[in-house]
Amino acid sequence: MARYDYDLIVIGAGSGGVRASRFAAAEYGKRVAVVENSRVGGTCVMRGCVPKKLLVYGAHFAEAFEDAQGYGWSDAQPNFDWPKLIAAKSAELNRLEDVYHRILRESGVDEINGTGKVADPHTVEIDGKPHTTEHILVATGGWPFMPDIPGIEHAITSNEALDLPELPKRIVIVGGGYIAVEFAGVFNALGADVHLVVRGDNILRGFDNAVRNVLRDEMVAKGIHLHCENHVNSIEPLPSAAGGGFSLHMDQVEMMETDLIMYATGRRPNTAGLGLEEAGVELGRNGAVIVDEYSKTAVDSIYAIGDATDRVNLTPVALEEGMAVTATLYGDTPVAVDYSNIASAVFSHPPIGSVGLSEEEARAAHDVDIYMSRFKPMLHTLSGRDEHAMMKLIVDRATDKVLGVHMVGADSPEIVQGFAVALKCGATKAQFDATVGIHPTAAEEFVTMRQKLPEHEN
Ligand code: NDP
Repeated sequence: MARYDYDLIVIGAGSGGVRASRFAAAEYGKRVAVVENSRVGGTCVMRGCVPKKLLVYGAHFAEAFEDAQGYGWSDAQPNFDWPKLIAAKSAELNRLEDVYHRILRESGVDEINGTGKVADPHTVEIDGKPHTTEHILVATGGWPFMPDIPGIEHAITSNEALDLPELPKRIVIVGGGYIAVEFAGVFNALGADVHLVVRGDNILRGFDNAVRNVLRDEMVAKGIHLHCENHVNSIEPLPSAAGGGFSLHMDQVEMMETDLIMYATGRRPNTAGLGLEEAGVELGRNGAVIVDEYSKTAVDSIYAIGDATDRVNLTPVALEEGMAVTATLYGDTPVAVDYSNIASAVFSHPPIGSVGLSEEEARAAHDVDIYMSRFKPMLHTLSGRDEHAMMKLIVDRATDKVLGVHMVGADSPEIVQGFAVALKCGATKAQFDATVGIHPTAAEEFVTMRQKLPEHEN
């Protein structure tokens, strides 16, 4: 008779948790349960990447209808219906949730609906009922963080923004990270008056400075009101007799009125109340589970992956971590995730694709040459839209290795994904140059840039 009820209990059925449970059960034949107290699919599928991308697609049509006129189309009278988009998005999420249930079922994973709590290194209590297990995997993800200011209860987060009953006429978005920039682009394209309040001097701290500047300028040119080096100090509801909405008091703006306030001020690991510290697991800053390179916590039988560990908070990284943990536990040799050269995208208007080091990071450790190109995409020669794309390569002068590839412009996430493979292979600038371009594309610019920036602009 087995010593434990399960070989593995996974707490959290988001991207990482589902992948790990599925692999442990289907690939390694283990007895696995996954515990979830909300919808299967987690942040990415239910409250993040997927619904956000559907809204980004929806928003892009606003410009596409305008651009079409330069190509001979006329008399288009587009009418946008926000509730219809939200309903279609929600139906797609229901479909995906069914797919997740089916995948788990077919893999032989027990899905347990409830709230899991670690009772001891080999026991998970689910709504008070103990289940024993050889290993526990914490994959509880993260949750939006909002600063504690007067009136913060009137603000929403991205969770609610994805299900708004109607499109706001005016919205203030606080934060300058991925989520703030992406939602600002969506609401602006769909016709809302968008104010973005950023505490730093620019959006997207941590990205290459040229990328940040180009996107900032494009966002402002598209009509987004950017308030940098600014803070919201308090929020007050306005009387409904006066039309409702809210007034904001900010550092440098005496008062601003708006219909909706959204905070996108980062996310925190979802680890409170899980019984982790009581079981001997160490938690770090903001409650992140501290793990080693194999995602093992301070307790031998407990592992943690994804946003709960606050390492690289991206879905594909959580998937990698989930597979690495199952390979470590049940395969022949321990597997550590390689965190170098992870490509990422911001689905802003226009989007960003990025892999490798920013110029600022590269300069801290290398002598570098910079290749940069700024151009009007071919689409806009006839559309007349005053939008520019930017591409940038950062090259190690000593080894000729390409250290960073960055792009702002249409399709950049799709384009940069391919270049991420090249960087993973250690491609040199000479190899980029020896690659024949596909013409006419924007992507070919990455293999035809010959002129490095003069040293003083470097
Ligand atoms: P980010 O950490 O990217 O950005 C948070 C922003 O809020 C920063 O501009 C930060 O400023 C600001 N901020 C933090 N605290 C405060 C405060 N108290 N008052 C005012 N501003 C504040 O978080 P997001 O919420 O945008 O996204 C969370 C995570 O989700 C990201 O880190 C990313 O990993 C993931 N994500 C990825 C996406 C993608 O891959 N396309 C899309 C969406 C999310 P400062 O820079 O000064 O700290």
